Amino acid sequence: MSIDGLPPLREVIANHDLRAKKQLGQNFLLDLNLTAKIARQAGDLTGCDVLEIGPGPGGLTRGLLAEGARHVLAIEKDARALPALAEIAARYPGRLTVINGDALQIDPLAHLTPPIRIAANLPYNVGTELLIRWLTPAAWPPFWQSLTLMFQKEVAERIVAKPGSKAYGRLALLAQWRAEARIVMSLPPEAFVPAPKVHSAVVHLTALPEPRYPADPAVLSQVTGAAFNQRRKMLRAALKGLHPQIEALLEAAAIPPTARAEEIDLERFCALARKLATARTG
Ligand code: SAM
Repeated sequence: MSIDGLPPLREVIANHDLRAKKQLGQNFLLDLNLTAKIARQAGDLTGCDVLEIGPGPGGLTRGLLAEGARHVLAIEKDARALPALAEIAARYPGRLTVINGDALQIDPLAHLTPPIRIAANLPYNVGTELLIRWLTPAAWPPFWQSLTLMFQKEVAERIVAKPGSKAYGRLALLAQWRAEARIVMSLPPEAFVPAPKVHSAVVHLTALPEPRYPADPAVLSQVTGAAFNQRRKMLRAALKGLHPQIEALLEAAAIPPTARAEEIDLERFCALARKLATARTG
């Protein structure tokens, strides 16, 4: 028996025949001390609803509930995991709701009450897609207070990267424009069963009440998209399709037209997006 009175995860997997499926990106965390540690990185969960994507056999789910989450809404694509998750729901009456489905297709909002935190150990491709969606809602602030997400280490580094590094690009700018983003844990492949080929890291993002610098989201996305699509080119060339007077606009935003995207910080990209928006309407 484990600390929560439920069987150890290896036993859960054996009892419910939950052999990992590659096509579902299944690399399970079986150490409940580790999942409790990840749950603690999500912040104070008491009084919060937690949205968990991809609970699998429920290691992180158990961590989130043991750490005091008021309610966990877990969305899992693999129906084989439902009996194991039902055992956890029975151990924590009224505190765990499980939806069987694809997190990319389901709108969880009807089942959640603020304050809401999100936590997940997800397949990496799904994780990046959801992260971008959560960072680009129709209006800001978003429905969530924080995101605590496992990523392939390289993706985690792209989220927290600063100017001048190879990892710096659109993902860093988007994440850091709207959130405070930190790597809070690093995990070797052996932490998972089966072990993936790559190292992993947990990123914690806290939503800012408003974006760090003013800018229209669509214009900022256009600017950073064009700049990093041709990251080796000088900005006056990479951005020339955006406006006939792009050199003057770059200078007005205190960006040398000969600089490359990698050298420019978020504040200056936002300044350029504002100058461009004004030049287009003016
Ligand atoms: N959270 C568990 C853990 O830490 O042991 C499982 C992690 S495993 C990396 C990813 C989980 O996400 C699997 O249980 C998989 O079935 C589920 N999953 C994959 N794609 C999904 C999707 N689109 N929507 C919901 N769950 C998904």
